[in-house]
Amino acid sequence: MNEADLKAYGQSWYAATKVDDPLRPRLAVDLDIDACVIGGGLAGLTAARELSRAGWSVVLLEANRIASGASGRNTGFVLPGFAAGADRLIARVGFERTRSLWALAQAGVDYVRDTIASEAVTGIDAQNGWLHVSRVDNGDEIVRTVQLLDDLGCEIEGWPTDRVRAVLRSERYFHAIHYLKALAIHPLNYALALAAAAERDGARIFENTPALSIDPQGVRKRIVTPAARLRANHVVIAGNVQIGGLIPKIASTLLPITPYVITTASLGAQLGEAIHFHGAVSDSALTDNHYRIVGGDRLMLSGRATTWARNPRRYIRTLTRDIRKTYPQLKDIDVDYAWRGTLGHTVHRMPQIGELGAGVWLASGFGSHGLNTTAMAGNLVARAMIKNDQTWREFSPFELVWAGGIAGRVAMQSYFWIRRYRDAVNERRARARELAHSAARDAEQRREAEEAARRRAEAAEAARQAAEAEEAARLAAAAEAERQAEEAREAERLAALEAERQAAEAEEARRLAAEEEARQRAAEEEARRSAAEEGARRAADEEAARLAPTPEADVPLQSELPPGGGEQPPAAPETPPDERDLITPAEVRPERDQPVRVAPSTKRRSRPRRRRERF
Ligand SMILES: Cc1cc2nc3c(=O)[nH]c(=O)nc-3n(C[C@H](O)[C@H](O)[C@H](O)COP(=O)(O)OP(=O)(O)OC[C@H]3O[C@@H](n4cnc5c(N)ncnc54)[C@H](O)[C@@H]3O)c2cc1C
Repeated sequence: MNEADLKAYGQSWYAATKVDDPLRPRLAVDLDIDACVIGGGLAGLTAARELSRAGWSVVLLEANRIASGASGRNTGFVLPGFAAGADRLIARVGFERTRSLWALAQAGVDYVRDTIASEAVTGIDAQNGWLHVSRVDNGDEIVRTVQLLDDLGCEIEGWPTDRVRAVLRSERYFHAIHYLKALAIHPLNYALALAAAAERDGARIFENTPALSIDPQGVRKRIVTPAARLRANHVVIAGNVQIGGLIPKIASTLLPITPYVITTASLGAQLGEAIHFHGAVSDSALTDNHYRIVGGDRLMLSGRATTWARNPRRYIRTLTRDIRKTYPQLKDIDVDYAWRGTLGHTVHRMPQIGELGAGVWLASGFGSHGLNTTAMAGNLVARAMIKNDQTWREFSPFELVWAGGIAGRVAMQSYFWIRRYRDAVNERRARARELAHSAARDAEQRREAEEAARRRAEAAEAARQAAEAEEAARLAAAAEAERQAEEAREAERLAALEAERQAAEAEEARRLAAEEEARQRAAEEEARRSAAEEGARRAADEEAARLAPTPEADVPLQSELPPGGGEQPPAAPETPPDERDLITPAEVRPERDQPVRVAPSTKRRSRPRRRRERF
C-alpha cells in the first residue's frame, strides 16, 4: 500500500488489495459540458457512467480520490431494500408504493451484479447471499417478516435456529433471513471499475478537485474549482456528508455516522470451522456486527458506529472483543487493518433523490444501505436528465428534512448507546430463556429416557418370564413325551416278552405234544413189538412143543452154528424174559437236546431181541 492510497483510503483491506488505478489529474482548464457530477463515490460514478454512455459530455469532480469516501470503505454488502425497514415504509407510503420502491432497490442490486459481469471487473471477490441473523428468539417475528418481504417481491428464505447455527457456529444466534439475491463485493475495486467504464465512454474524471461553489441559476450552471471553472447544463450533487462546504443546507439533512472496520490477520482453518457461510452476515439492526470472510481466512467486521469520527485504532480492541463474543472458539485474533468511513443518514432513512432546481439534481443520503441505492439513484437521475424519466418521483415523499445538527448527532449517539444496551439485555434474556428451555428440554428428555428405560426393563422382564414359562412348558412337554415314549417302550417290551413267553409256551406245548406223540408211537411200537414177540415166543413155544419128543431136536440147526462151525457155548435154558429186563420206550427216549445213545444194556436180552440186534 503506497502513501497516496493510505492517505486516500485509510489503512484498509481494500486499499491493500486495490487494483492498479491511475492517479487522475486535477481540473486545470475551464470546460463547457453537458453535465457536471460532483462527488466520485458510487452515486456520482454511476450517474457519470450512465450519462456518458448516453453520449453526454460529462465531467466528474472528486475532492479527494475516487471512492475515498464511504464508497471505498464500506463492508461491501449489496443488499435489497433501503436503510428504512419495510414496515416503516409501508406505514409511510403504503404497500403498493413500498413494493415499487423495493423493485427499484432490487434493480440497484441487479445493476451492480450486471456491471461486474459485463465489465469483467477483477478484484471483486463477489460472494452471494446475506444472512440477517437474530440474536433473540423471535421466530414469530421472523416468519411475519419473511411473509412481508415475500409479498414485496424479495427473494428470501427464513432459516430456523438449527440451520443458522450449522453455518454460523455461535450460540448467540437464533433464526435468520437469508436474502438470496444479495451479494458481497470489494467496493473500492467496483468503484474503480465504474470510473474506468465511464472514462471509456468519454467521461472525464478529475481527482483532488473539490467544487468550491456552484451557481445554479440560469441554463448554464457554473461550478468553481480551485484551478478552473466549469459550465454545465446539468449538475448532479453526489457529495454525501462531505458536501457541507458546498451546499450546507443539503449537508444539514444528513447525520454523519462513522462505523469502524477491521480485517483480521489470517485466522487459518479455524475460521472456516466457525463460519461456513461465505456471503454477508449481519446480526444487528444497527450498524454493528456486519461481517464476512475475505482473502480466504480473514474476517472483516464493521460496527461500533459513532456520530463523531474517531481514530479507528481505538476500536480494534472493542471490535475484536465483538468477534470473540460471537465466536469464542476463534483463538489468537490479530488485526491487520483498521479504518473508518462516514455515511450520511437521513431522518426518514430513505435516500434523497430528485431535482433541487432546474437542472440541479441530488443523489444523496443512502445511509448504511448505499451499495444498491447509489446504483439505483445514479440510474434514476441519469434517466431523468436524458429521457425526462419521472421514476425518481417515487422518492418525492422523502423530502429534505433537517437532521438536527449537533443535537441530532447527540440524539443519534444516545440512541446507539441505548439501543445497544437494550439489545444486550434482550440478548441476555433470550439466552437465559434458551438455557432454561434447554434445561427443561434436557430434564424432559432425561425423564422420557428413564421412562423408556423402565418400559424396556419391564418388557425385558415380561419377555424373560414368558421365555421361562415357555421353557417350562417345553420341558414339561418333553418330559411327558419321554414318559409316554417310556410307557410305549415298556408296553412294547412287555408285549415282546409276552409274545416270547407265548412262543416259548407254544414251543413247549409243541415239544410236549411231539414227545407225547413220540411216546405214544414208541408205546404202540413196543406194544406191537411185544405182541410180535409174544406171538413169536408163543409160536416158538408151540414149535418147541411140536418138536420136543425127537432126540435130534437137541442138535442145533446148521444155520444156528457159529460161522466156521466152532464150538458153541452151551445154550442157556430157555426161560421167558423177565418183564423187568425189557427196555421200555421211555428208557430209549433221548435226553432233550442230547443225541440219542442207547447204551448197551447189561440186562439180559430176550433171544428174539438179541437176534434182532445181531442183525
Ligand atoms: C464503514 C461503512 C460501511 C458501510 N457498509 C455498507 C454496506 O455494507 N452496504 C451498503 O449498502 N452500504 C454500506 N455503507 C454505506 C455506503 O457506503 C454509502 O451509503 C455509499 O457509499 C454512499 O455513496 P455516495 O456516493 O453517496 O457517497 P461517498 O462515497 O461518500 O462519495 C461522496 C464523494 O463526494 C466527494 N465530495 C464531497 N464533496 C465534494 C465537493 N465539494 N467536491 C468534490 N467532491 C466532493 C467526497 O470526497 C466523496 O468521495 C457503509 C458505509 C460505511 C462508512
